[in-house]
Amino acid sequence: MTEQVPHIVVVGAGFGGLEFTRKAARLPVRITLIDQRNHHLFQPLLYQVATTSLATSEIAWPIRHLVKRFANVETLLATVAGVDKDARKVLLEDGTRIGYDTLVIATGARHAYFGHDEWEPFAPGLKTIEDATAIRRRLLLAFERAERETDPAMRAALMTFVIIGGGPTGVELAGTIAELARITLKGEFRAIDPAKARVVLIEAGPRLLGGFAEDMSAYALQALNRLGVEVRLGAPVTDCKGDGVVVDGKPLATTTIIWAAGVAASPAAGWLDAEADRAGRVRVEADLSLPGHPEIFVIGDTAAMKRSDGRPAPGIAPAAKQAGKFVAENLKARLAGDSGPKVFDYRHEGDLATIGKRAAVFDRGRIRLKGRAAWWLWGVAHIFFLIGLRYRLAVALSWLWIYFTGQRSARLITQGRESEAAGRAGVVRQDRSAGSRQAL
Ligand SMILES: Cc1cc2nc3c(=O)[nH]c(=O)nc-3n(C[C@H](O)[C@H](O)[C@H](O)COP(=O)(O)OP(=O)(O)OC[C@H]3O[C@@H](n4cnc5c(N)ncnc54)[C@H](O)[C@@H]3O)c2cc1C
Repeated sequence: MTEQVPHIVVVGAGFGGLEFTRKAARLPVRITLIDQRNHHLFQPLLYQVATTSLATSEIAWPIRHLVKRFANVETLLATVAGVDKDARKVLLEDGTRIGYDTLVIATGARHAYFGHDEWEPFAPGLKTIEDATAIRRRLLLAFERAERETDPAMRAALMTFVIIGGGPTGVELAGTIAELARITLKGEFRAIDPAKARVVLIEAGPRLLGGFAEDMSAYALQALNRLGVEVRLGAPVTDCKGDGVVVDGKPLATTTIIWAAGVAASPAAGWLDAEADRAGRVRVEADLSLPGHPEIFVIGDTAAMKRSDGRPAPGIAPAAKQAGKFVAENLKARLAGDSGPKVFDYRHEGDLATIGKRAAVFDRGRIRLKGRAAWWLWGVAHIFFLIGLRYRLAVALSWLWIYFTGQRSARLITQGRESEAAGRAGVVRQDRSAGSRQAL
């Protein structure tokens, strides 16, 4: 590959950036793929790491390995901090500047606390491998602490798990935490009965799974109730602290809060000095390029992508992948001298969410499924989208094992000492020796 071919810089090796790279690598171009992490992450299964069902390496793969067969793709582990559109350069955090002929930005989204960023230390969200293992640690530590706790009120707070946000991630977390407590941990503790743990799912809106049909929401509510999850609907959270939340104006004592309520786009709009929507997503043209800059494309969760009929495309993995493929095809047409108008059109394949290890809902307009059949569909679909035979087999085996035995094996408390984890959560407990209450 010579230096004369166009140089494409791709920022972000998530669903959109990776799909673009793998398709565009077949063209006569040179690609530099930049990501702040060394792995591509399958975010839809992050909640399974957080709830001890899967190990981290089952849902994340080294980016270098995924593109190694393309000699024209160079991978850089680096954080992008800006873009100089006039000079056509990407600015890295360490001051390096990388020139491009075409730039594809696919930097995804992050949690949004609706103006309450101070809640984050108490109510961590789920976006990265580190988030998932930190939540797993908090869940498991809460049971460990409850086992040694003598103060009944504190023990009750330790055994109360609050999830904020009743979308697919909140529903999946709540169902799996309930099963972890009632099935997986059964008989393993002596002073506490993990089955008595309270799992509370809080949603400000009138129903769960707001993007699904109403009968699917009703089914999810019933299925969660069967697992013993308390669902609070129409209940806005007005405060989050180390010792609990305030919901519907009343305090609820808990030491474990998980945020599953909202996301905002990556700060790419700021780098590009571009117009953004309320969620911070860059407003793009119908061909996903930046207005006035046909050499810059923004795709996936960080772009306000539209369908051909003007409705917004959802912030989900298939939309990001379809956008990556579309931009690669667009580039191919441009390289062939065809610069006619291209319009991205998103094709929706349906919405899926699981509720524990045996129930799920699938909503694809007129085709709707619920219960076990939907769960099997969910399982097969996710295994299909994982990368590599080895991981597909490993995940399928883990799920079958959980399905039949209820046992979850990824239960290690790792990363950071107990005191550090609790300190961040601001947990307060009874100090037995001193008889006083103190922050751990
Ligand atoms: C918990 C959870 C569950 C989900 N469940 C589902 C589901 O069931 N089904 C579904 O379809 N979708 C689901 N999604 C949404 C889906 O994961 C996203 O829509 C999808 O990942 C968006 O792809 P993307 O390429 O835009 O961004 P991402 O896949 O998020 O990739 C962005 C990449 O950019 C990198 N990056 C970010 N900033 C920088 C920077 N400054 N410098 C360098 N690199 C940077 C990141 O490290 C990351 O690798 C879920 C998301 C989450 C968080």
